[in-house]
Amino acid sequence: MNTSLLGYPRIGEKREWKKALEDHWAGNLSAEDLHAEMKKIRLNHLKKQQDAGIEYIPVGDFTYYDHILDAATMFGFIPERFTYEGGKVPLDTYFAMARGNKDVHASEMTKWYNTNYHYIVPEIGNTTPSLKENYLLEAYKEAREELGIEGKPVVIGPYSFLKLAKHYESEAFPELLEQLTNVYTQLFTELADAGVQWVQVDEPSLVTTIPEEDLTLVAKAYETLQKEVPQLNLLLQTYFDAVSHYEKVIQLPVAGFGLDFVHDQGKNLHALQTHGFPEDKVLAAGIIDGRNIWKAKLRDKRVLLQEIQIVVDEDNVWLQPSASLLHTPVTVENEPDLDETLKRALSFADEKMEELITLHNLAAGESEANAKILEDNEQIFADLKTKGWRKEEPDNSAFQEVSRPLSYEERREKQLEKWPLPTLPTTTIGSFPQTRDVRRLRARYKKGELSQEEYQSAIQSHIRTWIEHQEDIGLDVLVHGEFERNDMVEFFGERLEGFAFTKHAWVQSYGSRGVKPPIIYGDVRFKEPMTVEETVYAQSLTDKPVKGMLTGPVTILNWSFERDDLPKQQVAFQIAEAIKEEVSALEEAGIEMIQIDEPALREGLPLKREDWQTYLDWAVHAFRLSSSHVKNTTQIHTHMCYSEFQDIITTISALDADVISIETSRSQGDILETFEDNVYDKGIGLGVYDIHSPRVPSEDEMLHILHRALNVLPADLFWVNPDCGLKTRGEEETIAALKKMVNAAQKARAEI
Ligand code: GLN
Ligand code: ZN
Repeated sequence: MNTSLLGYPRIGEKREWKKALEDHWAGNLSAEDLHAEMKKIRLNHLKKQQDAGIEYIPVGDFTYYDHILDAATMFGFIPERFTYEGGKVPLDTYFAMARGNKDVHASEMTKWYNTNYHYIVPEIGNTTPSLKENYLLEAYKEAREELGIEGKPVVIGPYSFLKLAKHYESEAFPELLEQLTNVYTQLFTELADAGVQWVQVDEPSLVTTIPEEDLTLVAKAYETLQKEVPQLNLLLQTYFDAVSHYEKVIQLPVAGFGLDFVHDQGKNLHALQTHGFPEDKVLAAGIIDGRNIWKAKLRDKRVLLQEIQIVVDEDNVWLQPSASLLHTPVTVENEPDLDETLKRALSFADEKMEELITLHNLAAGESEANAKILEDNEQIFADLKTKGWRKEEPDNSAFQEVSRPLSYEERREKQLEKWPLPTLPTTTIGSFPQTRDVRRLRARYKKGELSQEEYQSAIQSHIRTWIEHQEDIGLDVLVHGEFERNDMVEFFGERLEGFAFTKHAWVQSYGSRGVKPPIIYGDVRFKEPMTVEETVYAQSLTDKPVKGMLTGPVTILNWSFERDDLPKQQVAFQIAEAIKEEVSALEEAGIEMIQIDEPALREGLPLKREDWQTYLDWAVHAFRLSSSHVKNTTQIHTHMCYSEFQDIITTISALDADVISIETSRSQGDILETFEDNVYDKGIGLGVYDIHSPRVPSEDEMLHILHRALNVLPADLFWVNPDCGLKTRGEEETIAALKKMVNAAQKARAEI
């Protein structure tokens, strides 16, 4: 049996990678110095894998921004708006594609399958692909020359590359795939000539819902590669879910297949047992969770491995993580402040490499040492229980629907009476500019430089200022501004039971940006009111209604590292119960408009369509658990910052929020089509201006968006608000934009 990795995190233990890039972009690090720094980081990462004893070490997975952008530039997909004169793409052009510059807008960035990583979307356009450089070859040679590593180059496969790309007609797909395959032929020939034995060809799109006919195209591509470069071993790698059309996929003419045995709901193992596995091929078995941060339960993993070995000869098995370690932080070593019991149960990238080796040793057979390893491993999880953090037992039983006692129409009448608002009421999404002052205030308080009273009174003064601004602007429903929050999940996590926070556990989100998700390690419980004080203070300053502002259970879950010992839905319900208590606390304190944000609801959708409904059902239930118990007159709002609603509109409606606000202005009106066919019959605010840009839009632009919306939505259900929270904006531009928004709303009202 061999060990292998699919990819290693780029950012570095202390985010050295991010710093180097940002220094370069700021003009403080020359290209030459950047290259030198990048090389140092890259070699250090390879060395770690080598020292850990990994046999098949990936090369070419390292990048200066994004691995899909690397492939796109290697194949010459450079949109015409960028400066490019042939040959290897210059560094400045590469970064311009990633980030835009003063003259050109960047390429689009989008979610990498169901992860929180974002890749740069290749634009096909009129480009005929050709090989502009071969960074895989360079990476391979570098690893061999500098460290004596026989690396395994990693590249996105032609099928997935095209599936991830845009700007081509679907009819052109077969021909494009053929063209691209020819470029891969050249790429692989060069690698084989240099002595490369194995190439990992990632085809994650094979785990999504794809038509069976596509497999014919995929087969054709891989037949060509096999015919043209027979001397090279291709490992066709999938991850994030079970491979679709297993029986067809394993007939592809490649030397091995990589399957995910962690995030596949047991389907890959089942397929393996049912349909077998080709005798002469390698099975790269993704057994250690490549996406979560918990130590593996070694006994379970050994059983899984034994089951695999019944079908596949052990000489043909590679042990590996279920996915690239890109999605995990680097090392637990740098977390001295974590509780020891918890820390022992965690495994980031570096620890996962050790786990692979341990598992490899365990597979060698029974021994006293191995028995001890298993026992110690079990103790780690037993300790988490002893601590009293994990009292709830796993519960997969069906849940009892909860709903508000009255239908929306009935509630609406009562709410109209309670809240005398104009038609087209104006409001905002929650946060106001987080200026340097605001951020410094929180930082100083955290460091202990300010007393609780000093801090509170400073926060109150920001609230007061912005209540005054909102009254001057003439908004109808006000907010307190969220000055006390640095992050909409962290803020609640820090105040609930069951969450832990790290110092350095960053994971790349896009480019040089990272996120540091909280870790849900135990049962989530409400401790004490979290938002009441600030909200009530804001309400005391005005006669207009102030909306309470909470983060919803699904978003809190989706933006955290979750427990792996309870079903996900159960964790969502625990969080929902905690949020429910906060809702009650607000209501009791007289706050009777409450917004529960769920911006991450959509991104939790599983990769396979067939799994969507199950997820949406429990997501809706979690939201309703947190919000259905309120009085009929209490108005529940929710907010989502995206606009692809077509396929989940029934779910959105099932949340049964009295008012929803969603992002619209960047969707060029596409969203309106959604509402044309699916009449949405509850309060709704379509964002009338983009908050991602400092530009103050004109009143006419907003009025135009309003007119378009009012063509498809009834005016008496409609709210007027920006696309999202305003925390990244400046104060002046925010006030100016909101004034125009209020004017636009007034004009629109006059026309009704
Ligand atoms: N209430 C939050 C804010 O205004 C919502 C943020 C979000 O949707 N991501 O900042
Ligand atoms: Zn938003």
